Amino acid sequence: MRKFEDTYRHKGLRKKLIENLREKGITDEAVLTAMNTIPRHFFLDTALDHFAYEDKAFPIESGQTISHPYTVAYQTQLLNVKPFDKILEIGTGSMYQSTILAAMGAQVFTIERQHPLYEKTKEYVFKKKYPVSTLRFFFGDGFEGEPNFAPFDKIILTCGAPIVPPKLVEQLKQGGIMIIPLDQGDIQKMLRVTKNEDGTLTEESFDDFSFVPMLAGKNRE
Ligand code: SAH
Repeated sequence: MRKFEDTYRHKGLRKKLIENLREKGITDEAVLTAMNTIPRHFFLDTALDHFAYEDKAFPIESGQTISHPYTVAYQTQLLNVKPFDKILEIGTGSMYQSTILAAMGAQVFTIERQHPLYEKTKEYVFKKKYPVSTLRFFFGDGFEGEPNFAPFDKIILTCGAPIVPPKLVEQLKQGGIMIIPLDQGDIQKMLRVTKNEDGTLTEESFDDFSFVPMLAGKNRE
């Protein structure tokens, strides 16, 4: 079990990162506060400890990545998170994004298809910080969503999706929003899908990003 230490140096670097996010256009104070509270280096290999507060993506297990801090901030800002929102996340990965959402007071349901990553979430001290009902982990295929806990106020995908998954649209509340990096060849276009009261969808496009792909099925190895 690794040791989790948050030193003054880490805190200082994190503060600089927050200023950097502000300069890049992140204005949601709740997002910035959560990202200043949660030590990102806890979610990375100890060898990467001193790089954790650079605005970079890093490898995690199973050939996956922890998203750039800017990407996390950008998606979370678009999600317009409010306390007690019931949020479904597709792609737990390092658990960093899910923890940011929990720190903002949301009720988080997160799905991962890579078993080693799902298993690793057990290691995190943060799990103990939040009641079981605010941060729940599932091993499964995000294309299927979590029908037993639907509907959700918000849905966030942290992998590049080939389509807007129909089952996720079904599991979104009326008036709810889904943030989805939609594949456009080599890059993903950030999309905000709003499910209107009459059931129709409104789609808005934002900036381009680069994500690992959303893959169907589960991987036990
Ligand atoms: N939110 C993560 C980002 C991890 S990268 C973080 O903060 O670190 C995206 C993750 O999506 C990877 O772990 C990948 O295994 C996962 N993923 C890809 N397709 C998926 C699917 N169909 N269902 C669930 N997770 C999926």
